[in-house]
Amino acid sequence: MTAHEHNAEGWHFDTVQVHAGASPDPTTGARATPIFQTTSYVYESSQAASDIFTLQDLGSYSYTRTGNPTTSVAEQRIAELEGGRAAVAFASGQSATTFALLNLLRSGDHLVSSSNVYGGTTGLFLRRFAEIGISTTFVDDIHDPEAWAAAITPRTRAVFAESIGNPLGSVLDIRAVADVAHAAGVPLVIDNTLATPYLVRPLEHGADIVVHSTTKFLAGHGAAIGGVVVDNGTFDFGAEPEKWPGFNEPDQPGEALRYWPDFGARGIAYSLRLRANLLRDYGAAVSPFNSFLLILGLETLSLRIRQHVQNAKTIAAYLESHPQVEAVHYAGLPTSPEAERVAAYLPNGAGSILSFDIVGGLEAGRAFVESLDLFSHLANIGDVRSLVIHPASTTHSQLSEAEQRRSGVSPTLIRLSIGIEDARDLITDLDTAFARVNATVASTSHHPQHS
Ligand SMILES: *Cc1c(COP(=O)(O)O)cnc(C)c1O
Repeated sequence: MTAHEHNAEGWHFDTVQVHAGASPDPTTGARATPIFQTTSYVYESSQAASDIFTLQDLGSYSYTRTGNPTTSVAEQRIAELEGGRAAVAFASGQSATTFALLNLLRSGDHLVSSSNVYGGTTGLFLRRFAEIGISTTFVDDIHDPEAWAAAITPRTRAVFAESIGNPLGSVLDIRAVADVAHAAGVPLVIDNTLATPYLVRPLEHGADIVVHSTTKFLAGHGAAIGGVVVDNGTFDFGAEPEKWPGFNEPDQPGEALRYWPDFGARGIAYSLRLRANLLRDYGAAVSPFNSFLLILGLETLSLRIRQHVQNAKTIAAYLESHPQVEAVHYAGLPTSPEAERVAAYLPNGAGSILSFDIVGGLEAGRAFVESLDLFSHLANIGDVRSLVIHPASTTHSQLSEAEQRRSGVSPTLIRLSIGIEDARDLITDLDTAFARVNATVASTSHHPQHS
């Protein structure tokens, strides 16, 4: 579904975000999606129970760890917004990334990832995946398809990147990286958290799987942690069956079910295995209450993103001309080195996460963050409220300085997540903070300006 196209019902994006997956409750008539706060669901018969467990019946619920009617509405809606075949919700963005990849990788396998990804993702690959025998090669020059191709080995089973990188805002040439992955017979997994499907739908550009931290823009209110994995349903796990034992061999000896032969033609082999094996066995299920909050957020997604983008452009231009700013990193600036890829992939804007290097180094950065009032100093992005953080000492602090620099984080970098307030008030707040930094630096200087 592109901005001018529509879903199977003929609905456009703004309609899908309000209606997809939901209908009035058949027993009560409730119009808003109710919170089905239940752990389990009564089976109509022993046969009905058995049909659910053997995946003969995919439409009924059994236990909220593997499916819930409130969560299903959020999953269906996000799948349609991304133009995918199916979605599976998780308790957090971290668990969504983890299990999207563990559905493809096993011990001894290899992952290729952009080095310009969320700090928590870098840590997951470097430490946790390494502990269980999955190695990762990080690609630094993400705009060079040959760098991606050179990282791939015979054991590579997935390629991973962010559509808009965090925190520097580099924009991925999704098509070029998808072509490299597909030439090697592996799927491309894209973290689309910073862009949202309103700005880019990676599946339309060759990606096979999309993950989100719904904690951020999709929910939008900064009130609920969550994650989701969307599958396009088109990656061919049967082309080289020996590469994908999880999809072509039974889960346990003697079991008849095999995901690719049984469900591949319906485009649900990946998503069903994700739910019926990984969500069932690892158990990172989202609460129905958080799914309800996510649905409320999704209903206003495009309205919020339009305001986020408008504000971010205004503030990036303000920062670019400010004497206390050394450099602004925002793909949405006309002067950005990303401008060509923005034109190709992000015609509606480059999101609202931007970062900048402040004049005066680490001390100035610290004073600046503490001097803001309207901007909240916290570790999140994609909230309706504007947020600020110093990545080197917070989100990326679990990485070494070398690893930080590799992820694009310098000690003087300040990251802003621009909210949907009035941009004039945000600029007043930034102005006041810059003035306070000047005053602080002047008063602690050995060469006071008034002498
Ligand atoms: C926040 C974030 C995550 C992790 O999501 P949580 O919901 O915090 O677990 C993953 N990727 C990106 C790009 C993020 O911003």
